[in-house]
Amino acid sequence: MKLDSILLPGVDPKRPMIIAGPCSAETEEQVMNTAKQLAAKGIKILRAGIWKPRTKPGGFEGVGSEGLVWLKKVKQETGMYVSTEVATQKHVYEALKYGVDMLWIGARTTANPFAVQEIAEALQGVDIPVLVKNPVNPDLELWIGALERLSKVGLTKLGAIHRGFSSYDKKIYRNLPQWHIPIELKRRYPDLPIICDPSHIGGKRDLIQPLSQQAMDLNYDGLIIETHCVPDSAWSDASQQVTPDRLKEILDSLVIRNGKQSTEDLSDLRRQIDELDDQLLELLAKRMRISCEIGTFKKEHNMIIVQTDRYDEILNKRIKQAEEMNMNPEFMRVVLEAIHEESVRQQVDILNK
Ligand code: PEP
Ligand code: MN
Repeated sequence: MKLDSILLPGVDPKRPMIIAGPCSAETEEQVMNTAKQLAAKGIKILRAGIWKPRTKPGGFEGVGSEGLVWLKKVKQETGMYVSTEVATQKHVYEALKYGVDMLWIGARTTANPFAVQEIAEALQGVDIPVLVKNPVNPDLELWIGALERLSKVGLTKLGAIHRGFSSYDKKIYRNLPQWHIPIELKRRYPDLPIICDPSHIGGKRDLIQPLSQQAMDLNYDGLIIETHCVPDSAWSDASQQVTPDRLKEILDSLVIRNGKQSTEDLSDLRRQIDELDDQLLELLAKRMRISCEIGTFKKEHNMIIVQTDRYDEILNKRIKQAEEMNMNPEFMRVVLEAIHEESVRQQVDILNK
């Protein structure tokens, strides 16, 4: 994937890039009021949903193209850049016609390759940054696939937005962050900017600050934060929007750590980690070899592979031991289950040879 910077001229290149504004454009007054307050606080890029994908019919589905006139006015009166979500070719043509500076593809759209393909074709030859939200389901390949569709039509100013993943039972978060997924995306595409959307991950105002800090600690490139002049009376996503004043407090509170790596001390610790990883791999390989010998034995004696009481015993014993060694028991369960699954797979192979 060929990637170029998504930075717009005049926007501070220092991390984080901030995009702020209401979930939805509601009225001209609400958009202008919010944008003017944000501009006064130095925010350079406004977000506002014009077409809103709602889970159920009957909700507020956005003001449509009329809102694009207000965004144009924001540009003229505040000098801010403006950005919005597109889900169809028509949205793309309308947004471009009104001079929108940056687009994003929403989570429900990213999950649909037909829709992404259509949008990509409408964007061919366009030079503005396009950000792709993660799909609602935790599928990294689908997220990458959407980025690839845009890349294939020649777009290079691409970025990703991490907005969390749906789950059946919502606990703390509206959408589970599953940080390992964007981390893996960054590992595969180190030059792809990643922006965190703590508003849609958290679903609650109080979670925006800690989630934003976590994104900074993970070296994310920016934040997109829903901001409304009167959050409680917002027509969509009221509970997760903050005032421009609160946004400023949140941003001022963030500790931005150095993304640059490797001081001398750190490289010594990293050498130790590398060595331990070597040992871990060797031990694992040895464990797998022995497990294969057990597989051969089971084959010769016509035994079944999974002996539940033995598996239970291993799990319980080691999870308890892990706790005594100050490790998280859930973490140990996941590790042991992964090792066990691979052992079983190898034994099945042997049995069927
Ligand atoms: C939004 O940004 O307001 C939105 C609808 O987000 P998502 O696509 O992440 O649900
Ligand atoms: Mn929203």
